[in-house]
Amino acid sequence: MARKNHALPEPDYDCVKCGACCCNPDQNREIDYREYVEVEKRDAIRKQSELMKKLTFINKKGEIHMRLVGVNQRCCALTGRIGEEVSCSIYEHRPGVCRRVKPGDEWCIKVRIERGIDPAPPEPEPKRKKK
Ligand code: SF4
Ligand code: SF4
Repeated sequence: MARKNHALPEPDYDCVKCGACCCNPDQNREIDYREYVEVEKRDAIRKQSELMKKLTFINKKGEIHMRLVGVNQRCCALTGRIGEEVSCSIYEHRPGVCRRVKPGDEWCIKVRIERGIDPAPPEPEPKRKKK
């Protein structure tokens, strides 16, 4: 469970107002890595050939990922405005990795801060040395 910080408002982990975990995270952007949302072999979307053709790409190793688009490097299946109102256009067919992120879990908290949806927690004050 996330520790409460009384200096900040309690985050509202409402996925339809967010979409942060559908965007490439900072650690990937820093190295220009865009293989964020993998479509694994067992994912049901693999059987949807039209969706696969439209929404995914195959890397040099033969792995399949969702395409990322725009300045936010967001999954191309995401519609709406990040941090306001979003929706997954393939919700029933979304890959397993998308289902594993839970509102309020460690990854959710991190990417929400990265996308500016929640403020970053203040730096802890340095401990004073005893004289
Ligand atoms: S799981 Fe978290 S980061 Fe992902 S959409 Fe929901 S609230 Fe946002
Ligand atoms: S498939 Fe849907 S849930 Fe998964 S990253 Fe894309 S928009 Fe988000």
